[in-house]
Parts: sequence; structure tokens; C-alpha cells
Amino acid sequence: MTQKSLPPDLHADTLAVRVAVDRSQYGENSEALYLTSGYVQPSAEVSARRFAGEEEGYTYTRSGNPTVSSFEMRLAAMEGSEAALATATGMSAVLLMLFSLLKSGDHVVYSQSMFGSTIKLIGTEFARFGVESTVVPQTDLAAWQAAIRPNTKILFAETPTNPLTEVCDIAALADMAHNAGALLAVDNCFATPILQRPIALGADIVMHSGTKYLDGQGRVMAGALCASEQMVNEKFMPVLRNGGMVLSPFNAWVVLKGMETLGIRMRAQSASALALAQWLEQQPQVARVYYPGLPSHPQHALSMQQMSGLGGAVLSFDMKAGTPQDARLRAFHVLDSLQTLSLCTNLGDTKTLLTHPASTSHGKLSEDQRQAAGIGQGLIRMAIGLEHPDDMKADLLRGLDTLK
Ligand SMILES: *Cc1c(COP(=O)(O)O)cnc(C)c1O
Repeated sequence: MTQKSLPPDLHADTLAVRVAVDRSQYGENSEALYLTSGYVQPSAEVSARRFAGEEEGYTYTRSGNPTVSSFEMRLAAMEGSEAALATATGMSAVLLMLFSLLKSGDHVVYSQSMFGSTIKLIGTEFARFGVESTVVPQTDLAAWQAAIRPNTKILFAETPTNPLTEVCDIAALADMAHNAGALLAVDNCFATPILQRPIALGADIVMHSGTKYLDGQGRVMAGALCASEQMVNEKFMPVLRNGGMVLSPFNAWVVLKGMETLGIRMRAQSASALALAQWLEQQPQVARVYYPGLPSHPQHALSMQQMSGLGGAVLSFDMKAGTPQDARLRAFHVLDSLQTLSLCTNLGDTKTLLTHPASTSHGKLSEDQRQAAGIGQGLIRMAIGLEHPDDMKADLLRGLDTLK
């Protein structure tokens, strides 16, 4: 859809507040919310051309909506992709990608540390339709290479991962995928285009949960796929239009306005996360801190190079403890002692959210599987928000200082 002309080479912060569809005849400065399911056609002839795909123009919101278009254009501009397509949630973006690109007998390679629902969707649901898959350790490039088969169509990576913040080398995986005639898809939810632009590193598809940092204020669910014009128009669009997992215009508008502050939020929340991570490393009750911005992180150098010198806003830490049972009690005590921060399963909010992965996101795994994944009973994940870092520390100390 058309876009008011902007000068070339604008920065991501500028694109975040400026890219959108043309203003309406009223000249509104803030992008309009077009809450409509249908569009009145100027003539039967124009309507026929629009339905035949011969002329641009909106017909029905399942096929396109100006507010949704503004979100898609803004995200594509920030990710540096030719095009983007919005979906109802992050998971429906994954569903759309897999459904559009795979058929029975195809093979996917993905990391064992990916988002839980992504693993279920590929390894269980798509397996029912004959799609094969291999899971590999996130940071082991040789394992990714060894997993590739002649029928491999997609390598799917997420970096950094939840909750251990493991980082993989996007450029290396892109080369590996292309040498095998496959595509590299990257879930860029944790880093966002402010920190990391996978397309510039060679990735073919960027997937987003707009529910997280793009909205940034924990209000609505949204998702998106960024890719070439051709892939979006020829592969994704027909499935989206017919499958109907479209983003509501209202939610698109909320996320569109959220994206205007993405840059300042990501930088502020990353700075607070680094301060908290450094502070947690000093606490005697804490065994280990996982955060890409710390020199102790195994992929620290790669992270700094790949993520614009910032570590992102998510960190995890392990309680010092004897048995797994003791570790769980200690973690629960810290979480139950919070007065300011939230015990809440989400991330990418202005409010700091803490979770206990072993009993929530990774609760369905056996203890052995959990150990293999490195998710101990003493592990706490923090998605850092915008409270003052001193208040975050004080809230953690309420529990850390009263451990028995
Ligand atoms: C939340 C999340 C998703 C799924 O997004 P929804 O909007 O909840 O469907 C996918 N990947 C990552 C990394 C996430 O954090």
C-alpha cells in the first residue's frame, strides 16, 4: 500500500515514528485506527480489478486493512525487509510460515531451546502431516550442519533464547542454510530490530511476537513475518487470506503506537538489565547469572557484535542451593517476597516480570529433560521493565536477605 515519501537512509528510531500508510483527507498526525471489516467500492469495475489483484485497494479486512498495513510497513522498514505480514499472535506467525513453505516429506532443523509452543507446533502438530524435524543444541553450529538433509527446507533459530539467553550466530546459520538450498528463519522477539536485524545478516525470514517488545506495554497480542516481497505476496499472503489468522486493526494500532517508543525502551531496559545482572552476580545467594551483556556469558563477544552492543532486557539467575527441592523453595521464597515487581508469565512489558521456568514454561518436561535443558528448580527469569533499578534490587533483596 502507498506510503508518504520519506528521505532514504533514516535510522530505526525515525522509521519507528514515521513509516505508515498515507494520511487520510483529514490530515491526522497520529495514524488513524480504521476499525472496519469492509470497504465501500467506488465502482463495480474497480471492485472487480481489486478482487482480481490488478489494482491496489482494500476490499475486506481479512485481506488487508490500512491500520494493519501501517504496522506491516513500519516493521518491514525497521527490520530492513522488503515486506511484512501481520498475524493475530506470534504463534500464528510461526503457523503461517510453516504452513506456507512446507509440505509432507519436508524437513526442518530447529534449536532445542526455542519457544515451547514453537517446538510443539513443529515436532508434534506438523509431524502429523508428515513434516520431519530435528532439534539441535542452540549454539552448536556443527550439530546444525550435521542435521541438514537433502529434504531440509527451513533452519529455524531464536536468539537470544528463553530463559537461558543462549545466542546463536545468525550469519553462520544463514550461510549454512543457503549452501543447503534451505531458508533461515529467525524469531527476533527478544532482541527486536533495535538490537538485531537478521535480514542484514543473511536471514530470509524474521518472525515476531508483537505481544512482547513491539507493543511493549503488555496490552495486546500480535505477530508478524518479515521477508521478501515475493515470499510475502506469493507464499504467505494466500494462506493468510484464506486461513484468516489476521491481526485485528485495533491491536495493529496499539502495537503501531507501541513501536514509536521501541528504541528508547529497548535501550533503557537493556541498561537496567545489565545493571541488575552485574548486581546479581555479586549476591552471595546467587549461583549464576545468564545475560548476554555479561563477560561471563559464553557467547558474550558474538552477542555484543550481533546485538548492537546491548544484551537485551531478559536475564535469568540460579539460586545457590543443595538439592533441587531446596532450590525450588528458595526461588519460590524470592518470588513470593516481591512487593513491587510482578510474578507474571509474559515479557516485553514496561513492568518487570518474573517467572519460575521449571514450574511454568518448562513445567511439562520430566526432571531429566529439564536438567538436560539447563532449567534448574532454582532458576528465576526476569524480563526487565522500566522501574528504577534500585527499586528492582530492593524488591529482590526482600527475598534474598530472608532466605532460611
Ligand atoms: C511469546 C513468544 C512467542 C509467541 O508469541 P505469542 O504472541 O505469545 O503467540 C514466540 N517466540 C518467542 C521468543 C516468544 O517470547
